[in-house]
Amino acid sequence: MSNSTPQTPVTTTSLRIGNGYDIHRLVPGRPLILGGQQLEHPAGLGLDGHSDADVLVHAIMDALLGALFLGDIGKYFPPDDPQWKGADSLVLLEQVVALVKARGWGVVNVDAVLIAERPKLKPHIEAMRSAIALRIGVAPDQVGVKATTNEKLGPEGREEGISCQAVALLQAL
Ligand code: MG
Repeated sequence: MSNSTPQTPVTTTSLRIGNGYDIHRLVPGRPLILGGQQLEHPAGLGLDGHSDADVLVHAIMDALLGALFLGDIGKYFPPDDPQWKGADSLVLLEQVVALVKARGWGVVNVDAVLIAERPKLKPHIEAMRSAIALRIGVAPDQVGVKATTNEKLGPEGREEGISCQAVALLQAL
């Protein structure tokens, strides 16, 4: 063991990572909104939920909140509050970003993967990225959105629902 003074450990960090997950049921008679884009499902299905049920935006919001241990979106926009009925999730995203900024953090990037059997999401990915980037206040290249099927396995594969996983990286402002 050396007697030299140990290096001062780094006790603060200027980066934070968070992850988020969401799933909503596919049902008839509801719109299918992902990343703020209204899509057509070949079987006429949409996502059930109290708000617009945008799983992509919900997962991103939970990733942003998770990075700062601020709880989840249910804490800020409870599903039993009539105020959020049919809410545009992109507007809620703006509020979450405001919360993050008020605590002194900015968004470096977010990345998300949507898990949906149908419809084909690729033609809509760029529009989703742009819409989300606009509300976060970053460039579209700071927002990753990918889509995969679930190879007909599980609830997403049986088209019982669509899920999304997201991560967000924050930096101290
Ligand atoms: Mg949700």
